[in-house]
Amino acid sequence: MDKNIKKQSVYISEEENTLRWEEVQNSFKKTFGNEIYSSWLQKITLIKEFNDYLILAVPTRFFRDWIVSRYLDKILEQVKSFKLSLNRIEFKIVEENKQNQDIFKINELSRITEIKDSILNYNRLNPNLNFNNFIQGKSNDIALSYSKKVCEQTARYNPLYICGGVGLGKTHLLNAIGLEMQNENNVMFISAERFMYHFIKSIKKNDMVNFKDFFRKSSIFIIDDIQFISGKESLQEEFFHTFNSLMDKGSQIIISSDRSPSKLERVQDRLKSRLSGGLVVDIDAPDLELKIKIIKKKIEEIQNQFKESISLNEEVINFIATESKTNIRELIGVLNRVIAFSRVHNKQLNISDCKNILKDVFNQSKVITVDKIQNVVSNFFNIALSEMLSQRRSRPLARPRQIAMYLAKKMTTRSLPEIGRRFANRDHTTVIHAVKTISRLSEQDDEMKKNINQIKSLLLEQ
Ligand code: ADP
Ligand code: MG
Repeated sequence: MDKNIKKQSVYISEEENTLRWEEVQNSFKKTFGNEIYSSWLQKITLIKEFNDYLILAVPTRFFRDWIVSRYLDKILEQVKSFKLSLNRIEFKIVEENKQNQDIFKINELSRITEIKDSILNYNRLNPNLNFNNFIQGKSNDIALSYSKKVCEQTARYNPLYICGGVGLGKTHLLNAIGLEMQNENNVMFISAERFMYHFIKSIKKNDMVNFKDFFRKSSIFIIDDIQFISGKESLQEEFFHTFNSLMDKGSQIIISSDRSPSKLERVQDRLKSRLSGGLVVDIDAPDLELKIKIIKKKIEEIQNQFKESISLNEEVINFIATESKTNIRELIGVLNRVIAFSRVHNKQLNISDCKNILKDVFNQSKVITVDKIQNVVSNFFNIALSEMLSQRRSRPLARPRQIAMYLAKKMTTRSLPEIGRRFANRDHTTVIHAVKTISRLSEQDDEMKKNINQIKSLLLEQ
């Protein structure tokens, strides 16, 4: 048990400090213009940087909601241009006069308040993801109707387990359930990753009692992306107990995952069977009809929100729906681009304009995999892939290996242990060492910097 905990704690605490916040702020100013910048973005400060996400401070809830609903995508795009591995931003509300203090040092607060405070701030329900703006279609019909049923008749379908691929609306549904229930229940809405974060933090502080109390108190417990617990033994253990005691006291549990319980890998059987013990519902890829409905609804929302008229003709809407992939998040991303383009050029778009814009989008959203990185790096250094992955430690092999590990960490969303496994079953500490070494060398050594940049552009070109 101890060993596991230690492994995980290394894994979650990958703090990094490579961003220069002033530079990011400058880019905000350029991208958003002075007015938006000085009224909103200038007030955002950086609290903490991890390799794949940032915690930013904002002064009020209203401020946070405003930024999230209007600028979050673009903000993320900007910070990603400084650091590719970032894929998420979390906001913490810090009153202005407290912003300069290190909020992680507020120890006067009792421990439970600290847990509560941070969980509430990180995991607040998003008012924009509700049942009203969730569009029904053949692919999500069942998931939607049971999500609503759970709100009317708690603990009848328990747990409700919603599964489906990326960007198909799982988080949206979970959030909608939370919003619907929050007035009359003690709702806890948390991602499995966050759950783990608090779990590890409590272990480190020797404060498991409060952790248990806190999570077991909720009457509606909603946990997002449960697949994250894969391979994390002690987390599964804890989750299993939390799950059981919530069920015992009749709390409703709602879970989302990218796959069905039986397909979860490296998850204890007893937990899988618990997870599938209620009702499992799927969300499938949207059909054309649903995609078109979503596009129209989004256009309507934007028109209402910004009081502007957006004219995309049926032909163009059809084209976007047909061409975009099966992921609704991407569909909305494409639509936003098209709208931004038509705003800037102030014209009715035709299909060929859209083709150009889409081409651009697809080029940007290239998937970079560990395999691809290994191939490109071994080619670049002219060594055989098998040698690069071998146990030999001579520098001409070890350096490229480390570079490949470094890029795998920076350019994919794989975790350190996963990357280790892909490199002939190495330990995650080897990967950490590689990432640190190459980060340092790429700052000190021009040759290294040049190589890394070349490899990165090869990867992005392919
Ligand atoms: P997941 O959690 O399954 O990866 P999300 O819930 O984050 O996906 O959905 C991705 C995006 O698509 C969100 O902006 C969400 O609001 C939107 N979305 C997904 N399904 C629908 C739907 N049926 N109606 C409206 N918006 C949707
Ligand atoms: Mg999600």
